[in-house]
Amino acid sequence: MYVNDTIAAISTAPGEAGIGIVRMSGKDAFAITEKIFQSSSKKAFSALNNRSINHGFIIEPNTGTKIDEVLISKMKGPHTYTAEDVVEINCHGGTVPVKRMLELVLRNGARLAEPGEFTKRAFLNGRIDLSQAEAVIDVITAKTNIGMEVALGQLEGSLSYNIEEIRTIIINMLAHIEASIDYPEYDIEEVTYDTLLKQAEEVKEKIQSLLKSADTGKILREGLNTVIVGKPNVGKSSLLNALLKEGRAIVTDVPGTTRDVIEDYININGIPLKIVDTAGIRETQDIVEKIGVDKSRQHMEQADLILFLLDVSNPLDDEDKTLMKLVKNKKTIILFNKTDLPTQVSQEEINKYFEGKTMIEISALKGKGLDALEEAISTMVFGGQVAISDTGLVSNIRHKNLLESAFDSIDITIGTIEDNLPLELVSVDLKDCWDYLGQVTGDTVSENIIDQIFANFCIGK
Ligand code: GDP
Ligand code: ZN
Repeated sequence: MYVNDTIAAISTAPGEAGIGIVRMSGKDAFAITEKIFQSSSKKAFSALNNRSINHGFIIEPNTGTKIDEVLISKMKGPHTYTAEDVVEINCHGGTVPVKRMLELVLRNGARLAEPGEFTKRAFLNGRIDLSQAEAVIDVITAKTNIGMEVALGQLEGSLSYNIEEIRTIIINMLAHIEASIDYPEYDIEEVTYDTLLKQAEEVKEKIQSLLKSADTGKILREGLNTVIVGKPNVGKSSLLNALLKEGRAIVTDVPGTTRDVIEDYININGIPLKIVDTAGIRETQDIVEKIGVDKSRQHMEQADLILFLLDVSNPLDDEDKTLMKLVKNKKTIILFNKTDLPTQVSQEEINKYFEGKTMIEISALKGKGLDALEEAISTMVFGGQVAISDTGLVSNIRHKNLLESAFDSIDITIGTIEDNLPLELVSVDLKDCWDYLGQVTGDTVSENIIDQIFANFCIGK
């Protein structure tokens, strides 16, 4: 249930910083500030201009104790983030000042905001739709510039616009159907089926083009799931380190010591690579290592891309060959590592085995061949540069699932129209389609799902 009370939270990240911000939103935000703020202009808070930033002190009203020197922004609804009255108190950063500030506003009538509640209010007050609210999380958690640009586009309503365009067509279709059912004496059936079919196909096409963008969108948002595979000591951790250009994974000479799976993001031409260094995938008796190996296999199953390493400074053994079989039918780039050392591997044989796959000579130790690897990754994923269409890229799995359901519904609708079945039947699936699309923008979504979505936000947003 939506309650129209006044919420408050610390909106800046925890830790020491130059400033910290406590944000308040709701009908009492101004009245609460009135009680605790002493402006250096000596004006009452109510007398200050809308959209102004004001210097002064926060005072504990009962004792007169100074809490902190602050700058306060006063923003009158509805042209604010939440569409309600909003006050932002910029105090000194650091755990104590912001915490004392928050406690003070809570004692004076505000309630601690739930995660994402500011954004939820912006949605419930109709300032943004649900897909825009979800984009706020995506902007905050973006891994690369391109990922952020996609989220920002969605925040500005690019996806909403596309969805609404499709829904308008569907509403027209439904109206047409209703009219034919309600006024059969006009005998508009014939025209209706023809027109309906054209419109339904247009809807299908538009949904399809949105769905097409979903895979790219997912990768930009969540990262390309990349797994580095190879037997112990081939140089997996060294490669990861070289790519990260900082020593986060453990490098060691003892085979099988990368016990834990390490995850990190690296930015390859705008593609966030969610990269996993695995313990060598092989049969093993060692229980501790077995956990790593099982995890590795699991990671391989879910991988979008496998980087498979062979150590060319040693002859291939059975372990290499087992792994070669495992990766052969997956999206794999073959890396010949340790090419700075004399080679002991006949690459011809391997070339034949992995025919058609990208193979690159590298030296993880010397950083050789990494440019070629980065190039190969972006070519493999996007066929070159990542292009962001301005047609509302779908980057959210919830949206993708809904679009798939909408696609199925319109597909059934088309079949029903083609079979000249009664219009009542046509309208059933058409309404479903309309409903699924509405769940993307939040128009037809249940309260449960709304709560679930906002629970993923951080507090203060
Ligand atoms: P992992 O077990 O597959 O993760 O292998 P590591 O990254 O821990 O490397 C094992 C050993 O091989 C270390 O001593 C690395 O310094 C060495 N190594 C890794 N890559 C190269 C390379 O390109 N050239 C040379 N000469 N040594 C390498
Ligand atoms: Zn390792």
